[in-house]
Amino acid sequence: MSSSIERLATRNTLVGESLPIRRALPTKGRRMIGAWCFLDHAGPVTLDNDQDFRVGPHPHIGLQTFTWMIEGEILHRDSLGYQQVLRPGQVNLMTAGQGISHSEEAIPGQTRLHLAQLWIALPDAHRHTVPAFQHYPTLPVLQQGGFTVTVLAGTSLEQTSPVQVYSPMTGIDLTSTGTAETQMTLNPLFEHGALVLDGEVTVQGESLEPGTLLYMSPGLTQLHLKTSAAARVLLLGGKPFNEQVLLWWNFVARNEAEIIQATNDWNTQSGRFGEVKGYEGERLVAPGTEGLHLRK
Ligand code: MN
Repeated sequence: MSSSIERLATRNTLVGESLPIRRALPTKGRRMIGAWCFLDHAGPVTLDNDQDFRVGPHPHIGLQTFTWMIEGEILHRDSLGYQQVLRPGQVNLMTAGQGISHSEEAIPGQTRLHLAQLWIALPDAHRHTVPAFQHYPTLPVLQQGGFTVTVLAGTSLEQTSPVQVYSPMTGIDLTSTGTAETQMTLNPLFEHGALVLDGEVTVQGESLEPGTLLYMSPGLTQLHLKTSAAARVLLLGGKPFNEQVLLWWNFVARNEAEIIQATNDWNTQSGRFGEVKGYEGERLVAPGTEGLHLRK
C-alpha cells in the first residue's frame, strides 16, 4: 500500500467571539483523521483586553473534547459539577456521550494563550454513553532526536497515554528548542496528520508552518521530522473512521433527526444537558437547523 500526502490550508475563524484561531479540521477536503474530527489551534497570542477567551455554557453530544494546553491557563466548568483549571502540559478530556454542557474561560490576568482543542468522534457503540470528565495532569514525555515528545493519546514510541479513547488512534506533541531530527515508526493502518503549532518543521520532506495541515493516507510505516530552530508540531493518527458522522454546531451525530432533537433539547432547556454552575455570562444559543441538509 503506498501512502499519499496532501497539504491542506487551515481556516481562520474566531472562538468566543474574539479569539482568532486556525481551524484545521474539518476543512475543505478533509473532515477527519481517524476519529479526530475537529482541530482548532489557538495562539500563541498575547491577550489584549478585547481578546479575551470566554466560551459560555454550550452542549455536546457524541464526541470527546480534548484540550491540550501549551501556554496560559483556562478554567473548565461542566454540568457534572467539575471545575478544572488546565495548565501547560496537561489535557482535559470531556466525554459528552448522550449529552453534557460546559464553559471555558481564560483565568483572569492571563497574558499568553496557546492551545489546541480537538474533538474525537465516539464510535456507535459508545456514543450514547453517560457523560464523563477527566483531567490528566501528567502525560508520558520522552526525548527523541532533539525533540521532547509528549504522548497525548494512544501508544507511540512504546509509551501509552492514560487518556481514555474509544477507537484506535494516536496523538503526540513534538517540541524542540533548536535543531532536531527524528524518524518515527507509524502504524500503517492509520492515516495521519501533522500540524505545526510553532516555528517550522519539515515533515516527510514538506516544509510546514502554522496554517497548513499535512495529511498522510494509510500505508506509511516511517515518518521523518526535522527542524533547525525552536518549533512544535502536533501529530495525529487513527484508523480511518468507518462510520458516517454528521457534525453540526457542537454536536456529532449520525442523522438530522438527532441534531434537531439535540438542538431543541438545548434551546428549550429540557434538562438533557444539565446546568453549568458558576459561569458569569450567557449560555450559548444553538443555531437554527434549516441549513442542515447542506452539510451532507
Ligand atoms: Mn465545547
